[in-house]
Amino acid sequence: MADILIIEDEESILMALEDDLTIEGYSVETATDGQTGLSAASKKRFDLLILDIMLPIINGFDVCKKLRASGVTTPIIMLTARGHEVDRVLGLELGADDYVTKPFSPRELLARIKAILRRVNQTRQAEDLISFGAVEVDFRKYEIKKSGKSVYLTSLEFSLLKFLIDNSDRALSRNDILDGVWGNDVHVFDRTVDTHIGHLRKKIEDNPDKPLHILSVRGLGYRFSRQ
Ligand code: CA
Repeated sequence: MADILIIEDEESILMALEDDLTIEGYSVETATDGQTGLSAASKKRFDLLILDIMLPIINGFDVCKKLRASGVTTPIIMLTARGHEVDRVLGLELGADDYVTKPFSPRELLARIKAILRRVNQTRQAEDLISFGAVEVDFRKYEIKKSGKSVYLTSLEFSLLKFLIDNSDRALSRNDILDGVWGNDVHVFDRTVDTHIGHLRKKIEDNPDKPLHILSVRGLGYRFSRQ
């Protein structure tokens, strides 16, 4: 079940929320000021944050801004005060995903939470499951199947395939691939790329000599095509 962090300084609201969400089966952590909330949300990956705006030490806007600036993409629902139209607009501009106006009904907030978590899940699954030709790749489980049969890839081959797929339809030089997969601090030869591409083709292409997905780009390197 999802991990939710509530950052709220009003104890009555915080406790009621914590109870409601726990009863719904969520795992809940709490923080009562912006600083503590910010560091909790930076350290651990939550599935969702519920963030009040008026908070001690660092306000909710700044917490949201700092999290987004540091690359934290956890969905955020902001708690805004009634009549503060500006708060909502600013909150969404700063990267909040939704807002709920105080006083809110637990049912309304739960509905928003479920909607966001469902959306995030769908996006994640879409990114994690990729198919082309007869091949299906599940990047979350590190599984690959060809015509329904499991194919074994080494972790390096998996990284290589992921890099090619992430850069679909782009012509990649051997150097791009070396930097992207091996990292530029490791000394490997261009030939290494060709060798591993060869292995990967044997595992996923119907005819490795006439590849349909891992294509050669003459004089440069390779290009991945899902077609
Ligand atoms: Ca407050």
